[in-house]
Amino acid sequence: MTAQLPAPIRCADRPTLGGLVVPWITLHAGGRYLFGALDKDRRDRALAERRCQVCGQSFDERICLAVRPADVRVGYTAEPGMHPECLAYSVRACPMLSGEATRYRATPAASGLPGVAEAGRGPRAGRPADAFDAWWITPGSYRVKTDPEHPGQLLGVDLDVPVLRKRPIRPAAGPDLDSLLALARQALGLEYATSSCPHQPDGAPHPRNTTKEND
Ligand SMILES: [Zn+2]
Repeated sequence: MTAQLPAPIRCADRPTLGGLVVPWITLHAGGRYLFGALDKDRRDRALAERRCQVCGQSFDERICLAVRPADVRVGYTAEPGMHPECLAYSVRACPMLSGEATRYRATPAASGLPGVAEAGRGPRAGRPADAFDAWWITPGSYRVKTDPEHPGQLLGVDLDVPVLRKRPIRPAAGPDLDSLLALARQALGLEYATSSCPHQPDGAPHPRNTTKEND
């Protein structure tokens, strides 16, 4: 599907895998690039040297961030910024940003599936995908946060900065439909009613006192 996805000119010198650009911060190990795995040294260099995480080049007048609600809560995103066109490419190439993926990989990084590096998401393995927003900021607002207890450790990009524009990239993936239905039934006190009616239509629960036959 994405085999011929046009890449930004900035990425012309980047290696490709399965027709997709290998981001600058992607881990190269065992003789191959591991899509979805992050090279920590490269990530730190991208942050410290103000490089785009996709093409590895310096920023221009606008920097884009891919931000999750959880990032906003902690005040930083672990991922380095991107050129607007590099983010636009990533949104199409990366299953997590495109919305194609509904869960984080259960066994992160090792399988080498095509995609774009997913930084700082190890603990989320197997969980439903987060929502992502694109933030546009200026180079003057691009600040790297360090861990107060370990000053040499880079946390990521400070999110407590003026934002020029925010745009949704993808919504969060909800829980499985079965789980949602079970919760809804529980909330409505319909457990026993539905258990005797396996063909109960979705989203149209019948009152508990119904006496009609619906099958
Ligand atoms: Zn770039």
